[in-house]
Amino acid sequence: MTAQVPVRRHPSPTATDQRATLMTDPGFGQAFTDHMASARYSPEEGWHGLEIVPREPILLDPAASVFHYAQEVFEGLKAYALDDGTAGLFRPDANARRMVRSAERLAMPPVPEALFLDAVRALAAVERDWIPTGEGSLYLRPFAVATEAFLGVRPAQAYRFGVIACTVGSYFRGGKPGISLWATTQYTRAAPGGTGEAKCGGNYATSLLAQREAVAKGCDQALFLDAVQRRFVEELSGMNVMFVHADGRLRTPPLTGTILPGITRDSLLTLAREEGLDVAEEPYALGDWLADARSGALAEAFACGTAAVITPILEVHTEADRVLVGGGKPGPVAARLRERLSGIQRGRAPDPHGWCERLDG
Ligand SMILES: *Cc1c(COP(=O)(O)O)cnc(C)c1O
Repeated sequence: MTAQVPVRRHPSPTATDQRATLMTDPGFGQAFTDHMASARYSPEEGWHGLEIVPREPILLDPAASVFHYAQEVFEGLKAYALDDGTAGLFRPDANARRMVRSAERLAMPPVPEALFLDAVRALAAVERDWIPTGEGSLYLRPFAVATEAFLGVRPAQAYRFGVIACTVGSYFRGGKPGISLWATTQYTRAAPGGTGEAKCGGNYATSLLAQREAVAKGCDQALFLDAVQRRFVEELSGMNVMFVHADGRLRTPPLTGTILPGITRDSLLTLAREEGLDVAEEPYALGDWLADARSGALAEAFACGTAAVITPILEVHTEADRVLVGGGKPGPVAARLRERLSGIQRGRAPDPHGWCERLDG
């Protein structure tokens, strides 16, 4: 179970009324809480010194390897207010495991799963008052960075682990029913043998130019294709994608090393199988997607991830084309899966897999 994590309280935490104002319209990734979890790694002591401390800047030497060679991994998970007045974390053990795998890919010493879990549980408990009721949640952002001051190229010997938190509302502002995608053929996100299946900042850095291009084209998000043939749909910069065919089949690209193994993706595949849907982890060529959307053979498409949960994809733009998906309207399968998933996350539906971990008691 959870170890006792030392807590050093913030001397002047956000006042109750100020917090209430911040939580009214928190946006995404702005309304930060007062504390953070912190631990260190050294070759002699391994990972050690986990504590909850006031949220404050991290002092690093300008030669710290993270600034130069980008040894960094992170996670994202949410704490939800449950309908019975308690609060819960959604599948934190899956995030702990994934961060181990990401760290291994970046030649970093993995944060032990138990330490990761102690950190997120302790921080969420200390920041209990920042977990909103209603549609919002408390987003937890664990991360690890190389801190050794050394410019030689090899894995660093010193690291910091931290968890920060922010109250979040909806990821896509303005309550739009769905998003439009720009299918970039110029840029790729991940190549075979690369870091596509690791959750690391470097993957995001390489996606930003495509994302900027998407916005310039009037779209919400960039869609990445496979780096070899530039044909098959992979994912967005921070979300997986799923398709619902008119015959009811649910399809998502397979995890072949270039796609981030989303926990939302995994949860939805499980729920869909339980609902009796025919589920396939199969490549889908962009050309087929566009043709199927036009002919009606494809009924729905949606993006999924912790931040945005399930978001219908209503339009796809390419250099040559612009196609509506599902007639440009959100579909029933995405809505039903979203309802089922949030029912479990909010503790108002049966949870046969034990995905929702209660925070208090
Ligand atoms: C985090 C992330 C996802 C979604 O993963 P979840 O565990 O569902 O939040 C998908 N794609 C990328 C590239 C990501 O970084």
